Formats: sequence, C-alpha cells, structure tokens
Amino acid sequence: MRTITHFINGAAVEPRESRRGDVFDPNTGKVQAQVAFATRDELDLAVDAALAAQPAWAALNPQRRARVMFRFRELIEAHMDELARLISSEHGKVLADARGDVQRGLEVVEFCCGIPHLLKGEHTAGAGPGIDVCSMRLPLGVVAGITPFNFPAMIPLWMLAPAIACGNAFILKPSERDPSAAVRLAELAIEAGLPRGILNVVHGDKEIVDAILDHPAIEAVSFVGSSDIAEYVYARGAAAGKRMQCMGGAKNHGIVMPDADLDQAVRDIVGAVYGSAGERCMALPVVVPVGERTAQELRERLVRAIRELRVGISTDPEAHYGPVVSAQHKARIERYIQMAVDEGAELVIDGRGLAVPGYENGFFLGPTLIDRVTPEMQSYRDEIFGPVLQILRANSFDEAISYPSRHQYGNGVAIFTRNGDFARRFAMSVEVGMVGINVPIPVPVAYHTFGGWKRSAFGDLNQYGMDGVRFFTRVKTVTQRWPGGTGTSGDAFVIPTMS
Ligand code: NAD
Repeated sequence: MRTITHFINGAAVEPRESRRGDVFDPNTGKVQAQVAFATRDELDLAVDAALAAQPAWAALNPQRRARVMFRFRELIEAHMDELARLISSEHGKVLADARGDVQRGLEVVEFCCGIPHLLKGEHTAGAGPGIDVCSMRLPLGVVAGITPFNFPAMIPLWMLAPAIACGNAFILKPSERDPSAAVRLAELAIEAGLPRGILNVVHGDKEIVDAILDHPAIEAVSFVGSSDIAEYVYARGAAAGKRMQCMGGAKNHGIVMPDADLDQAVRDIVGAVYGSAGERCMALPVVVPVGERTAQELRERLVRAIRELRVGISTDPEAHYGPVVSAQHKARIERYIQMAVDEGAELVIDGRGLAVPGYENGFFLGPTLIDRVTPEMQSYRDEIFGPVLQILRANSFDEAISYPSRHQYGNGVAIFTRNGDFARRFAMSVEVGMVGINVPIPVPVAYHTFGGWKRSAFGDLNQYGMDGVRFFTRVKTVTQRWPGGTGTSGDAFVIPTMS
C-alpha cells in the first residue's frame, strides 16, 4: 500500500517506524493509502531545516521572493487539474469544486506576489528636531500552520503563501484525512525556486499538533479546524508564548425577507448548503424565512430544487456533490438528523440511506431538509457540517437577525432582500464576521481578509490579506538622530518628549 510521507528540506523523507493513518477513497469506502504520522524527532528535522534556511531567505530582497511567488502561482495553475484530482480522490468533493479549492488558494498566492509593496513600512521625517522614525515589518522566523480536511489546497495556501513571502520558513501539518495536495504544493514551491527548508510538510494527528505547539523554535501557529480544537490549540500555543490565530467552526444563517427574489435565493441557498456535501465553513445550513408566506413559498421551492439534485462519485461531471469525507463523519451527520427528529423538528426530506449504484460502500448522504427547527434544539446549536438544511422560521426582521447574532458561531451570514435599508441595517448590526447581501457564500477576496466572530475564531488577526502579512511579521520601530545634526543636546534625565 502507498505511504504518504513527510516533505522535509526539499524532499520526501522515508518515514521512521511510527504510527500511520488510513486515507480513504470516500467514493468506494476503501483505504487507498496510508499516511505516516511524524514523531517529535521528525518534527525536529523539519524545524532544523527551517532554522538553517530561513535567515538567507529573509535576507533576500522582497522582489526576489516575489519572483518565486510568481513562478509558484504559474505552476499551481499549470497543475490545477492534477491538484483537483488529488483533492477529489481523498476528500470526495466533485472536480469542479476541487478546482475552486485550488483557485481560491492561488488567489492568495497572487496577492503575495505584491509582497515588496505590502512589506513597505512607515516613515516619519522630522518627528522631532533632527529625529526621523521608521517602522519596518520583519519575519518572525519559523512558523507553522495546521489545517482542516475540507479545503486541502486553499487553506494551506492561505497560510503558507503570506508566511513565506514575508521571509519566514513554514511547517505545514495538513489534515491526515486528505494530506496529498499539501505535499504536491510543497513540491511545486521547490520547483518554483523556493529554497529547501523554507516549506516543510509533516503529517499526523493530535500528537504532532501538540509537539508543534510546544516546540520552542516555532514562533507562531495558524490553525483552522473545529472550534473546541481551535480553542485548545489557541490556549496551549499562547501558553507556550507563541503568536496564535485559530479559526473554528460555523453555523451560517441565510435570512430570506418577504421581498427577496425567491428564484435566485433558492438557487443560491441550494448551492451553498449542499455544495461540497455541506463540508464548508461558509456553507449555509440554516435559512430563516421572515413571515409565514415566505416560509411556505421558500419551502415549496426548496423541495422542488432539492429533488433535482444529483449525488454521485466525485469524478461524475453531472454530480452536484459527492460523498462526505469518512464513515465516522457520515455517521455523525446521521445522528444529528435523528436528533432533530427526536427534538421535534419536521424531517421534510431524509437523505439517509442513499446508495449510489456501484458504490454502495461509499460515504454518501442524500440532501436533507428539516423544517420547524427552534433555537433551543441542540441540532440547531451545533455545527453539523453535512448536506443538511434547517429552516428556522421568524416573524420579523428583528427576530430573524437575532438568531445569527445570538448563535455561538459567527463566521458568515447572508440576507436575501431587495430593500437597501434592511440590508444595510443587517450588515451593520449582525454579530457575525462576514456578511453577504444577496451573496450566499461571502468568502472575502484575497486582498480583504477572512475571519469570523465569537467561537468561530480565537485570536485577533484574520487569515490572508493584510492581516496575513501582519500575522507573519513583527514590527520594529527605529528612532534615529545623527551626531552634528540639529537638535542634539546634552544629558537629559526625563522621558524624552517632543515639546
Ligand atoms: P478538526 O478540528 O478535526 O481538525 C483540524 C486540524 O486539527 C487537523 O489538522 C487535525 O489533525 C488537528 N486535530 C484534530 N484533533 C485534534 C486534537 N484533539 N488536538 C489537536 N489537533 C487536532 O477539523 P476538520 O474536521 O478537519 O475540519 C472541519 C472543521 O473545520 C469544521 O468545524 C469547519 O467549520 C472548520 N473550518 C473552519 C474554517 C474557518 O476558517 N473558520 C475553514 C474551514 C474549516
């Protein structure tokens, strides 16, 4: 059986005798490869390679680092189909969606091609008599990223592109469930001219995550995953003195106002709920229709649209979505569907028990629709992360807005309306980090930044955009005065002021 190995100092390394994890083909339910889990010694090898390579990389002028990013961008584009196939075979998302996964990551690499401009500091000439002040952004050294299964290319690229463009060396710990795309990206980065040791990939589970969090030479850790683990990683890393940013789970709501363009809203909602089998942190698993008439019409149209959906293997060009990532995850989603029924919600369409002919052991789940959900239900309060849509009915705009605002998660939210006043009030007051107005998946473009509120993010800097540059650099401020210039004076025993 094929073993997926670590990528350290520019090459695949033969794994030591250690634990391994199974990597499944979610279409067939069979194990297709094993992934080696790194030991602390192997992490040390990666950190040592990173420490050795980083100073020269940081000393390179930013334009030369940008040239590597340009070539990296070209190579990712040239290998788009290969990367998409890798992702699709381990994750189960359909090929078109896997290409989107690579494309959204590539856009962050594109943003980082502008790193000379992004790293320009600040300067004040004449802050005092003969005194000039400048602030510069310098890399941190060796930094790490820990990523979830659901975007095997995009999320590693969110982190590694700004980190290396800023002059750091990076250790990536991708999800052990679909680790191959990360290794391929690291190979492409080396082909693009990135020096060996600047981008290393180590595989594993909690054991290696803990080793990363405890490692004294790693200065900062960026994490994306579920909230309980994000919170744990944040606390442990911060206690070890590291700079941390940890993105967590989500339960995004789509508010449907009575004046919405319902045809468009239904198309948007169905794509955002069921695309990628609902395994997106910016999926839209709750809709909140305002008023009984809106609820009734929306539900009827949703039922019709859902009946048209095709679930198939991830290489089926006609399939709207493929299997979920694992048998455990499928069982977890099924438990939540049953929980909603037991809590008194109405199961309108039950996706359990779906079989794709020829792939009876695949991890497939049909689209599920649950109506008459209430805010007290645990199946509403928790993230389900599957092809399940819950309808939570509201009587007014104020009631509708209160649901996403009071929810423990605050990642994304959308409103469907033609009324600019409602839309603006909604955008300004909803307690959620990313808002879509007639946009169902408001993932910000690469030159803005991505981050939720409340239990969807721990730490205060977002992913990518200028926050990515801020997270992976530290500011040094130099105040200078030259002998013989104006303003030099004798001894002073009080705190200097500009008076
Ligand atoms: P996960 O939390 O299970 O795993 C994320 C990473 O943490 C993986 O690399 C995994 O190996 C590691 N890990 C797992 N258990 C650990 C433990 N006990 N201690 C330390 N590390 C551990 O998440 P997942 O299932 O891979 O991904 C889905 C989750 O990620 C969902 O909750 C989704 O909403 C969230 N997500 C959030 C964002 C965002 O930006 N907010 C983006 C994508 C996904």
